[in-house]
Amino acid sequence: MKIALLSRNKTLYSSRRLIEAAQERGHEVQVIDVLRAYMNVTSHKPSIHYKGEELTNFDAVIPRIGASVTSYGAAVLRQFEMMGVFPLNESVAITRASDKLRSLQLLSRRGIGLPVTVYANKPDDVKDMIDMVGGAPLVVKLLEGTQGIGVVLAESQKAAESIIEGFMGVKANILVQEYIKESKGADIRCFVVGGKVVASMKRQGPEGEFRSNMHRGGTASTIRITPEERSTAVRAAKIMGLNVAGVDLLRSNHGPVVMEVNSSPGLQGIEETTGKDIAGMIIEYIEKNSKFGKTATKGKG
Ligand code: ADP
Ligand code: MG
Repeated sequence: MKIALLSRNKTLYSSRRLIEAAQERGHEVQVIDVLRAYMNVTSHKPSIHYKGEELTNFDAVIPRIGASVTSYGAAVLRQFEMMGVFPLNESVAITRASDKLRSLQLLSRRGIGLPVTVYANKPDDVKDMIDMVGGAPLVVKLLEGTQGIGVVLAESQKAAESIIEGFMGVKANILVQEYIKESKGADIRCFVVGGKVVASMKRQGPEGEFRSNMHRGGTASTIRITPEERSTAVRAAKIMGLNVAGVDLLRSNHGPVVMEVNSSPGLQGIEETTGKDIAGMIIEYIEKNSKFGKTATKGKG
């Protein structure tokens, strides 16, 4: 097969591993920096150009689209879909997942467990908003944040009010969320490929830190997940329409709750922690499933 890897940097661990796994299995991989691809979006015969040449004859495309390039990256991926190239994850699904609010709404309507979450643009009554999540302690999150930055724990009512008002004052988009204290600074990353959790790990924040992000000094270890956690992760990925997803769960008193669903989950942490060949599983999924024109939307979404 000829596979396009949409990645801004081919030296990153995840990109390197996917290239390696594909080549080991006899496939050809071309890395494409999405921001440098250009396309005639009005032509009847959709095409993509890159470094002066037309991209042709691809069988599959692996999008590794970061938060910063979601909109343009999704457009390039959509163009591949219009050309009939099989996407590992579809552009519509990636766009859904990149929007925290939309994701929570989609998951909640299908009955997935979630921390009680309130969103507001310009609330007249911050106290009522705080009451809606059960009062302090609570978590305030910047909608645009990643890697734990912009996720704040407000321990008291007063702290909650001033943090929310502070964020509102600078016109930041925020979520206010029930604090799942019983998860004790840990979360569970479930790596889903093709409707199965193929690997999972527990991430634990350092002493005194409620955020478990590796970028915030968290450490990862293997974990046995429960059947309920497994089915929650699989269902969450399916609802989002993602073939490959990193589903982050918290263990709450009322069962597993989904915190986020990532459409380009990193491979380094999960492969190093579990010793599994996740990149190989992804390539095998593509081998079994890729077919010309096989997308749910063909770029129509
Ligand atoms: P980011 O997108 O920046 O990673 P997250 O929503 O994943 O933001 O939050 C970062 C970390 O903070 C999570 O991995 C988790 O450990 C912790 N956390 C987030 N929300 C909650 C919550 N409602 N209750 C308890 N811990 C939370
Ligand atoms: Mg996170």
